[in-house]
Amino acid sequence: MVIKVSRDNLFFKFTPTMQPVVRVEQGVEVLLETHDCFKGQLKSEKELIDKLNWDYVNPATGPVFIEGVNPGDVLQIDLVKVDVGPQSTMITVPGEGALGNKIKEMETVILPLDGDALVYKNKVRIPKKPMIGVIGVAPAEGEISNGTPGTHGGNMDCLIIAEGTKLYLTANVEGALFGCGDLHTAMGDGEIVVCGAETPGTVLFKAQVVDLEKLPTPFVETDELVAAICSAPTIDEAASGAIHNMADFLVDFVKIPINDTGMLMSLAGQLKCCQVVNPEKTVRFEFPKYILKEYGYQMP
Ligand code: CA
Ligand code: CA
Repeated sequence: MVIKVSRDNLFFKFTPTMQPVVRVEQGVEVLLETHDCFKGQLKSEKELIDKLNWDYVNPATGPVFIEGVNPGDVLQIDLVKVDVGPQSTMITVPGEGALGNKIKEMETVILPLDGDALVYKNKVRIPKKPMIGVIGVAPAEGEISNGTPGTHGGNMDCLIIAEGTKLYLTANVEGALFGCGDLHTAMGDGEIVVCGAETPGTVLFKAQVVDLEKLPTPFVETDELVAAICSAPTIDEAASGAIHNMADFLVDFVKIPINDTGMLMSLAGQLKCCQVVNPEKTVRFEFPKYILKEYGYQMP
């Protein structure tokens, strides 16, 4: 049985008091239908971002209350399937993004999907590689706009948060209150112009509590690697956070001594920028799973 949640069930900020749209048991598959990050406001290349109502940017679908989840529990969110729409939207915003000083004109580009490639201006074919931009759980207090990433997840724009990935987040409130949106059909690390190929879509997931208490989250697992994610006001701080979170995982969970941890991270790890354009910047540190295996460790 799959529980479906339509894209009419949306929210724009993560708060501990948001009202769940559905309550599900752990391990049950849930299909979330998502809007694109503009909530479908830009339908053609003639519609520029000055038409945009910014109150409706970055909608997430949910929140989903997951039964039996308590604050402090580490939730494994298994992203079973991520599907994207037949076309995507990109924009330029003068003054915004890493090239905001050079970009002087607003532009909207619609990118149709042709088989497994996005077509850019009838010229360039970009391989389709769907991912989820906004994904998270409620914070313990206050409210966090969906545009901002943090320890709760949010707008991390991390391109390995995709179909087949397991995302680990720590619940801050009962039921976790999970939601996601802001899918991209493709995006490069950094997301430098402020967007990926923005698309509506669907996310099929299931969530369960796993025995990884105090795991430094957000944390990601793919077939080949694990990654620690950190968001902070600067890339320097986010990089340092991601490096330290991965080191803590390798020392505390995998039981690799710190000197070996440092050397192995230096030899085989990868420090990558997820995005450099949101209110907080996001960096991940990737580490290959084959080394965890050498140390007799397996993710749950
Ligand atoms: Ca985003
Ligand atoms: Ca986006």
